Amino acid sequence: RGGAPEKEIPFARPDTLTRVYAVASGKGGVGKSTVTVNLAAAMAAEGLRVGVVDADIYGFSVPRMLGVEHQPTQVDDMILPPLAHDVKVISIGMFVPGNQPVVWRGPMLHRAMQQFLGDVFWGDIDVLLLDLPPGTGDVAISIAQLLPNSEILVVTTPQQAAAEVAERAGSIALQTHQRLVGVIENMSWLELPDGTRQEIFGSGGGQAVAESLSRLIGAEVPLLGQIPLDTTLREGGDAGLPSVLGTPDSPAATALRGIARQL
Ligand code: ADP
Repeated sequence: RGGAPEKEIPFARPDTLTRVYAVASGKGGVGKSTVTVNLAAAMAAEGLRVGVVDADIYGFSVPRMLGVEHQPTQVDDMILPPLAHDVKVISIGMFVPGNQPVVWRGPMLHRAMQQFLGDVFWGDIDVLLLDLPPGTGDVAISIAQLLPNSEILVVTTPQQAAAEVAERAGSIALQTHQRLVGVIENMSWLELPDGTRQEIFGSGGGQAVAESLSRLIGAEVPLLGQIPLDTTLREGGDAGLPSVLGTPDSPAATALRGIARQL
């Protein structure tokens, strides 16, 4: 069908030194993008070279959450990703005119992922985080095919219903033979002024997902951490300054740094 030949994806090489984490969730709105950008910013602040691919075709909220102010630029036949808080960022939203909803089909999405990974000049990075769309759709399958070494992080809320869908998201790892790094529970509780914790969305979802994924794959899938409900997390996302940088002492930022250190 013409066009430029596909480029080799550096992260797909068996000897790559870049760790690739695909951040997955069973459903939308559980804080997957928030977690992704905060983990990326926390790792970059620790001195790691970090890239983020926003592959959430329905959401593409990563550029706003990271405060990306520039568009990608083209040099020769490579795309240079803009930088925000020392994180290199490419988003499907950067290639969609006027923020229109994306109605791409599977093969186009596959090609887009191929370009994000092969045509973008990432340079030598230590970590690449991929913000997947919620659920177990075409993008997740494409990533598994393009990057067999990529590992999966599952984000869930404490709610049992969310936990069930997160398990489904995680169980594709069985089919794709990707490593499941662990489960992150978000919106775990709200700390009240008197120090008590109100469990707005119930409790136990993260642990339940971790346990059932462990059973499913026959290896331990840890619960990497619990992130409380925290206004600073939402405000940081809206302002383009991730909470781990803007309000580093907040409980949510502290929890996120603790998770980043395990990766
Ligand atoms: P997803 O990527 O799973 O769709 P988002 O990261 O976009 O979810 O989060 C959905 C909304 O919830 C956003 O407005 C975000 O700022 C907010 N949010 C996420 N996690 C928290 C949290 N722990 N405390 C408060 N607000 C949160």
